[in-house]
Amino acid sequence: MSTKTPACGWDQAVLRCGRCGTEHTATTEDAYLKAVGVHGDAHAVWDRLNATERSGFASILRTILAAPELAAELLALADRQPAGGEGR
Ligand SMILES: [Zn+2]
Repeated sequence: MSTKTPACGWDQAVLRCGRCGTEHTATTEDAYLKAVGVHGDAHAVWDRLNATERSGFASILRTILAAPELAAELLALADRQPAGGEGR
């Protein structure tokens, strides 16, 4: 077994969110702080959406996370059609 000992002296830390009960396990202080920040950002975004938006957003994210290259293509399409419709 080759377990790396982190410089800060703990093997891993569990971040438990009091708002949604999610748990993240971080093995470095950097990862822990990043997880706290990203999770807080996620709550901030989520709080701004209504129920309909949340359901649509979640479905979009599932699609995108399953195919990151699709996300890049969709963004390219969005840039090409800024007004969301056909041109004049
Ligand atoms: Zn949370």
